[in-house]
Amino acid sequence: QGKAYMFMMRTRQPAGIVPNRLYLVMDDLADQFGNGTLRLTTRQAYQLHGVLKHDLKTVFSTVIKNMGSTLGACGDVNRNVMGACAPYTNRPDYVYCQKAANDIADLLAPQSGAYYDMWLDGEKFVSIYKEDPKVTADRAFNGYGTNFENSPEPIYGTQFLPRKFKVAVTVPGDNSVDLFTNDLGVIVITDEKGELKGYNLVVGGGMGRTRGNDDTFPRLADPLGYVDKDDLFHAVKAVVAVQRDYGRRDNRQQARLKYLVEDWGIERFKAVTEQYLGKKFGEFVPMPAWEYKDYLGWGEQGDGKLFYGIYVQNGRIKGDQKKALRAVIERFNLPVTLTPHQNIILRDVEPANKDEILAILRAGGVQELVDWDSIDRLSMACPALPLCGLAVTEAERSLPDINQRIRAILTKAGLPAETELHVRMTGCPNGCARPYMAELGFVGDGPNSYAIWLGGNTNQTRLATTYQERVKVKDLEAFLEPIFVAWKDNRRPKESLGDWVARLGHPAVRQAAAAAAAT
Ligand code: SF4
Repeated sequence: QGKAYMFMMRTRQPAGIVPNRLYLVMDDLADQFGNGTLRLTTRQAYQLHGVLKHDLKTVFSTVIKNMGSTLGACGDVNRNVMGACAPYTNRPDYVYCQKAANDIADLLAPQSGAYYDMWLDGEKFVSIYKEDPKVTADRAFNGYGTNFENSPEPIYGTQFLPRKFKVAVTVPGDNSVDLFTNDLGVIVITDEKGELKGYNLVVGGGMGRTRGNDDTFPRLADPLGYVDKDDLFHAVKAVVAVQRDYGRRDNRQQARLKYLVEDWGIERFKAVTEQYLGKKFGEFVPMPAWEYKDYLGWGEQGDGKLFYGIYVQNGRIKGDQKKALRAVIERFNLPVTLTPHQNIILRDVEPANKDEILAILRAGGVQELVDWDSIDRLSMACPALPLCGLAVTEAERSLPDINQRIRAILTKAGLPAETELHVRMTGCPNGCARPYMAELGFVGDGPNSYAIWLGGNTNQTRLATTYQERVKVKDLEAFLEPIFVAWKDNRRPKESLGDWVARLGHPAVRQAAAAAAAT
């Protein structure tokens, strides 16, 4: 019998795309083998919490046999590839983006058959992820560093990577994926007719810090250059191979690609990667400013059908809302997309079914967008306690209440009711909900205590920095009110909190807050 060890299972969902059948199976598995809830992650995948060890094989094989996979969702390999997930069928850039996310996931998938030996007794299966033959051909070893002829892993070799590796793909202007927090960011570049030309690449981003280790830090990715469309896979392999060969293996806390890029500088990293690639990167193609996008509410796909983005508080689907979502997805045979903000988009909705869908959702307590405060809509929390072994405090369970308190403090400080704020919270410095990109970030540093990070911006292109450590939840009002009053009194018209803090700098914010507290 042994102990009843409990596990979390995470899936592989490039660009968050989930077929109808897989949604229904995940919903069933959550009830039968999990804790009765589904958790959508900040990397557009599912986490199923509470799976017992003796159920693992049943759960994994059920996922795999129903058009899903967990391959590469954990471990020192490429993780789930994020993709800007707007379901616009008439926007070639988004279509190319979602295809590139899927192809890169295939390119970097571990090739050993051990995964199938373990979970399916070696049985072959048919995936929804129809692999492009070009990806298979491109996966082959092409002289990228060490020769791994005898290894089943043409890219990872015998030792895999020094640490996990994260990739996101997007289109110019759409920063829904938090592009600069990834080891590798890929931006689709099309010409004026919408034809695919190539890709801009950024490298060296990452969120994770280790508690008590000041040598670990969040970092934004740097521009690497441009590659023509036929060179994308070679460039991806070259970046991964440089990290494989030069990333630190003597210290896991310094093993992510961001530390190599920081240590070398982007120019040296670029030069070494070009050697692996066998050619130079082109000039980064100019792009419009980045925007925060979440695709919530109703939209037109461009093929006569609609999509409906539903806000899911901190990614947790549970209770009557879970039943209502399932009812709609099952009845109307809808595929869905999981978004980078832990929400869900129902796709391929026939306009004639819109009212009925809304009625079913409403009856199940699924609130519409207008019912949510904008602070909720823009905020994210990781699972933390009691589900994550690294958590030192709450996140998912405490953020809803804290958001309400933040709204009350804003109101008391005299800020307008429509004031928006990007708030993110994690239960430890690992930063899974990307708190270092928020205007107001809460990073767990002890029981009911958080380091407060201020100064990120609303399109997630600027890092916040630590403003104060060990702020107790009970002291939130006393801590935040002077800052909000100072912001209201001193900001430029409509200046966001993050921009105001970044313009002044923390010392001046402290002074302004102290002055506000004294009056
Ligand atoms: Fe990630 Fe830390 Fe949150 Fe766990 S507690 S989910 S490791 S940020």
